Amino acid sequence: MADGQKYEAVIGLEIHAQLATYSKLFCGDAASFGAEPNTHISPITMGHPGTLPKTNAKAIEYAIRIGLACGSKIAKDNYFARKNYFYPDLPKGYQVSQHTTPICEGGSITIQLPTGEKNIQLNRIHLEEDAGKSIHDISATDTLIDFNRAGTPLIEMVTEPCIHSAEEAFLFVSEVRKLVRWIGICDGNMEEGSLRCDANISIRLKGTTSLGTRVEVKNLNSIRNIKKAIEFEIDRLIQITESGGTIIQQTRSFDANNDTTFSIRDKEDANDYRYFPDPDLAPLHLTDTFIESIKNKLPTLPATLKKQWKIEYDLSDYAIDQLVEDKEEADFYIQWASASKNYKAIANWMIGPIRAAINEGSIHFQQLSSLIPYLVELVELVETNQLSFSVASTKVLKEIMTNPGSPKVYANTNNLLQTSSTKEIEKWIEEVLTNNPSKVAEYKKGKKGLLGLFVGEVKKISKGKADPKITTSLLEQKLA
Ligand code: ADP
Ligand code: MG
Repeated sequence: MADGQKYEAVIGLEIHAQLATYSKLFCGDAASFGAEPNTHISPITMGHPGTLPKTNAKAIEYAIRIGLACGSKIAKDNYFARKNYFYPDLPKGYQVSQHTTPICEGGSITIQLPTGEKNIQLNRIHLEEDAGKSIHDISATDTLIDFNRAGTPLIEMVTEPCIHSAEEAFLFVSEVRKLVRWIGICDGNMEEGSLRCDANISIRLKGTTSLGTRVEVKNLNSIRNIKKAIEFEIDRLIQITESGGTIIQQTRSFDANNDTTFSIRDKEDANDYRYFPDPDLAPLHLTDTFIESIKNKLPTLPATLKKQWKIEYDLSDYAIDQLVEDKEEADFYIQWASASKNYKAIANWMIGPIRAAINEGSIHFQQLSSLIPYLVELVELVETNQLSFSVASTKVLKEIMTNPGSPKVYANTNNLLQTSSTKEIEKWIEEVLTNNPSKVAEYKKGKKGLLGLFVGEVKKISKGKADPKITTSLLEQKLA
């Protein structure tokens, strides 16, 4: 068994995120996913002689947006460089990237570990264009190529080698996915390849600081696979070292069928990409005003909301984490909570029945927005014990969503309002006790756990109208 206590894992991630622009980075071809192969390919995408690329301003804006969200320094002067290499899916024979002058430098993203927060430091975020796609599994004899993806805009986010476990990597990528969606620059869809990750992994003896020889696992396309690939590699590297072997610098791939990795190639010392500034593209000179205008449009970030809500709404950490998972959800919570004072109850409604309705696809947040006055009333009815939560969250909520109107009027008309009238509840209790003589005898012999069953029965025959607190205390008195 390899000795995990002796070693520390060192991990650096490179994340590619496809920017959600309409068109490609240097031409007007659509950048959307899923079209018929080779339908989004103008002569510019294909790099035909005589064509001239032109930079998509939206992509620049999106790259700055993520940089600002991560607290990176925005490089005001930067240019695109050609990275020259041959590959069938690269129509121009070079990839346009930002080798020397990344548009964003440094910055960090905070992850929440069980032991507290940790800032994952970024080295850079730069813009580059994607390559096309080779397809090996359609024809038995040929590799087919789809150039639709060639030239679509990507940002590449590169971390410092400051991640020390598969779990940290998992949390980091989850946070990146949340952030890019939050600020609206990428759909974060890993299955469609909108977010892809390369993991660089090495190990060293605990307490040492120099970096060991690394392996790079390429093109991980799910957060679970990132975690599994890293776990596998850490174990493998430790085993090689412990058995006296030497780690060689390699590029590897993940096999999702058995959660292992395999070598694709040993990394040659240095590839000669012959980088040089792209002579067809104007260098970027970003003004403070331009950067400032992007900053002003940036939505409040989850980290800021978390701090605000803790103070303003006194929510639990769990509730806050749940609510800032998704921007639409968070926005809707703010809208609802600003119309009422039942902040905590609303948070529970959001995480419970509202999320369930959204996930079922029975309603959108946009539709829910127009129901705010009714939703406020609904929560108020529950909070003042006029309506049971179970009746409110099933029957009444459904009614409001299909036939918008006052929940109080509906509940009243349909005889759903909870009663705290002792007389009425006593009648139901009497009925339940008469119908269950043997249970009553057992209870009296000491099986006190049966109280819940009686409360449940009262709830059932009263159709949810009996206030459970009053029912419980009346039952206790009756059975004493
Ligand atoms: P390359 O140009 O080969 O992609 P970089 O120096 O840009 O290499 O680093 C790529 C990623 O690898 C970065 O996230 C970096 O933090 C990480 N990295 C570099 N060296 C190591 C190492 N020895 N162990 C783990 N990660 C490393
Ligand atoms: Mg790399």
